[in-house]
Amino acid sequence: MSRPTQALISSGALQHNLAVVRAHAPQSRIMAVVKADAYGHGAPMVARTLAQAGVDGLAVACLEEALTLRQQQIFLPIFILDGPFAPADLPEISRWRLGVVLHNRRQLQWLLDAPQDFPVDVFVKVDTGMHRLGFAPLELPAVLAHLVHAPGVRLRGLLSHLARADTPEDWYNANQMDGFREAAAHLPQTPGLELSLASSAGILRLPQSHYQWVRPGLMLYGMSPFAAEDGLALGLRPVLQLRSELIAIRDLRPGEWLGYGAGFRADVPTRVGVVAAGYGDGYPRSLGTGTPALVGGRRTRLLGRVSMDMLFVDLTPLPGAQLGDEVVLMGEQGGERVTVEELAALCGTIPYELTCRLQGRVLRVPVP
Ligand SMILES: *Cc1c(COP(=O)(O)O)cnc(C)c1O
Repeated sequence: MSRPTQALISSGALQHNLAVVRAHAPQSRIMAVVKADAYGHGAPMVARTLAQAGVDGLAVACLEEALTLRQQQIFLPIFILDGPFAPADLPEISRWRLGVVLHNRRQLQWLLDAPQDFPVDVFVKVDTGMHRLGFAPLELPAVLAHLVHAPGVRLRGLLSHLARADTPEDWYNANQMDGFREAAAHLPQTPGLELSLASSAGILRLPQSHYQWVRPGLMLYGMSPFAAEDGLALGLRPVLQLRSELIAIRDLRPGEWLGYGAGFRADVPTRVGVVAAGYGDGYPRSLGTGTPALVGGRRTRLLGRVSMDMLFVDLTPLPGAQLGDEVVLMGEQGGERVTVEELAALCGTIPYELTCRLQGRVLRVPVP
């Protein structure tokens, strides 16, 4: 493949960020969240690096994501956060030695109706205030009573999720943590049962939420869950760099228009670089004139509208720029940096969405 639009994925940065998780939650085991193709970074590559770095387990959203990892010879414990979507998932889950997070009565019934040969590891999800998935705390005693003695089930513990951990001082977090502690009191007195509550924001700012398993996603990729700070400020290193190249250069005279619609009009002589990356790669179309990008180790700006396969950068301050020169859209070049957090803020979203959007045609390239 020769199209130069690539996402460079740094294994060194991943290892560093895993060490940051460990430093924040030294007593906890780490279930690295690699759902949605590791937030767009490429799940098999990320999982392999984290496995080598000694991570304790992985979490994905669905069976298909888990099977992709098993097929790539990743034999770490894998937990399916949304549990089975149909009874037919269960034999596969057992056969591939996967664990599930069980969140409702329907899933519980599927599990009880069809005991699997190899016991399925089960975390029970309790709804402590997110009101998305999970059993109500009052249902727990009955649900746990079913699971403790169910054949083909190995009860692992209790899991919940915080709705406002990105604003750690919010009273709601204390409420959810209290609710989780009360729910945990319903667990049978079997030794070895485990609790899990914290994702990245909780790991970083709410030590009381750590328990036996933490579930970092975003911070492993070097991004920040907090609006006011980027990953670098939290001691993290960005894992992904989105880069491409200049595939055309042209000079606009004053009064000439650029690209689709009335996206940009040159008021002064303007040198424009055409870059092989667009919304068809997952770069947001809502970013346009003024958005930062790096060329020749300098920060310049996008011009006009982002098209499907291409976008424009201003080369007026870079008279030496040439065809084939590297353009960094997210990441670092020559000591300058464009962060995912900064781009997300510019287009009114969160860093999670920006990396998840990256399409399959953007080649993921492992780098140290
Ligand atoms: C996605 C997810 C996580 C990871 O959250 P981050 O904010 O990316 O760290 C943890 N737990 C559950 C249940 C999730 O869905």
